[in-house]
Amino acid sequence: MDDSKTRLEKSANPCCGYVTDTAGDLNSDFLDDAVPNVGDLSICFNCGSLLVYVDGARNKTRSAKRDDIERLNSKQRKLMGKAQKYIRRRGLLHPDGLS
Ligand SMILES: [Zn+2]
Repeated sequence: MDDSKTRLEKSANPCCGYVTDTAGDLNSDFLDDAVPNVGDLSICFNCGSLLVYVDGARNKTRSAKRDDIERLNSKQRKLMGKAQKYIRRRGLLHPDGLS
C-alpha cells in the first residue's frame, strides 16, 4: 500500500454513494494527493457525475449545476467531458457505492 497519498476524510459522493478518501488534481502529475478547495470541480470516479467541493478538508461535495460548469474554460470543459465519457463507457466500479 502506498502511504504517501494524501488521505481526505472518508465521504460518500452525493451522486451514487461512492466513498472516496483521495482527490486528484488535473494540473498535477500526482493524481491522488490533492487537497481540494471550496468551489473546485470534481468528477466522480465511479459514475462520472460532476461535483463541486463545499468543504475540501472534510471531502464534502454537492452535484454541479450549470453555473459551476460554465466557470470552466473550454479546455477544462473538454477534459471533463472526455473523462465523463470514459468513466460512463467503463461502467460503475462499485454499483453498491462502496469503494
Ligand atoms: Zn458517483
